[in-house]
Amino acid sequence: MTHANLPDTDYDMIIIGGGPAGYTAGIYAARAALKTLLVEGAGTVSQITITDMIENYPGIPEGIGGFELMQLFKKQAQKFGLEILPKDVTGVRKVSDSPVVWEVAAGDRAYKTLSIIAATGAMWRSLGVPGEAQFAGKGVSYCATCDGPFYRNRTVVVVGGGDTAIQEALFLTHFASKVFVIHRRDRLRAAGMLQNRAFAEKKIEFVWNATVEEVTGSEFVTGVKVKDVRTGKISEIAADGAFIFVGRLPYTDMFKGLVAMDKTGFILTDENLRTDAPGIFSAGDCRAKLFRQVVTAAGDGANAVHSAELYLDEVKGQVY
Ligand code: NAP
Repeated sequence: MTHANLPDTDYDMIIIGGGPAGYTAGIYAARAALKTLLVEGAGTVSQITITDMIENYPGIPEGIGGFELMQLFKKQAQKFGLEILPKDVTGVRKVSDSPVVWEVAAGDRAYKTLSIIAATGAMWRSLGVPGEAQFAGKGVSYCATCDGPFYRNRTVVVVGGGDTAIQEALFLTHFASKVFVIHRRDRLRAAGMLQNRAFAEKKIEFVWNATVEEVTGSEFVTGVKVKDVRTGKISEIAADGAFIFVGRLPYTDMFKGLVAMDKTGFILTDENLRTDAPGIFSAGDCRAKLFRQVVTAAGDGANAVHSAELYLDEVKGQVY
């Protein structure tokens, strides 16, 4: 069947993002024989590839490294013929209405598409306290997998009380002799099983109701100044490294003004992962949702493609 009145586009679908959501979308779209391009950042470090061990992705009881798992996603997508462009997206714009056609600029050209899956992920959030930026790479880290081995038999602090902070604190006990977990409340946000492991780990000491006010040091980090939020009292904890895990910010700047977002910039979708812009769907950590996991990102990728397929059928039917 031909669609004589369909606008001339390069693709039915462009997936932006090369994490679990993007590659799952890629597997589903390529297998559905949609003309699809996946654009993945040329130099972007994705969260999964720096995750040491994923032990809750179903079907892999022995666990798997994040980088290794991502390679498998990619291999599976390529098996179905997914076209992949390793370039940073520099812009997204609407080029026509009725039907809506989007243009995605990446590398030295722009590609027209009927639909987009925004699967751009998120990045670690910083604390924004004095010394944090100054000592980045000199004791301040956002990646225990990357930097943990540098802290063998040394003391580190971990800031945060979520799954990431506790998981990474546990990982750091493989190297460090002492791990202080500094949390702004008196209860952790992390999952119960992680909490139990952390409470049982002798190398971990919790510093409750405390915020980090400053990262101190000369050439390298020597400690952190913490404030007791109940008394306002400032004290200093001596440490060689400060690992900061206080949540994430989405990579969604390219969609600003195109789709509705929450106040942090996470993309708002309905339950079928449609945004409020026709033809734009969102999947994975960049969308506003409660639970950010590899498995939920993968589920999002599949759902977004299904919704996009229904949309494409409608669009093609309308102008057919
Ligand atoms: P998160 O759940 O948003 O937790 C962020 C933590 O940092 C919270 O404890 C928060 O304190 C604290 N925090 C935020 N801003 C702060 C500030 N300015 N100063 C001090 N503390 C601050 O983020 P996450 O731990 O990165 O997890 C993100 C998502 O990924 C979650 O859905 C999580 O379940 C998931 N995840 C899952 C796994 C796994 O299952 N293996 C591993 C990692 C992450 P409050 O608690 O007081 O808000």
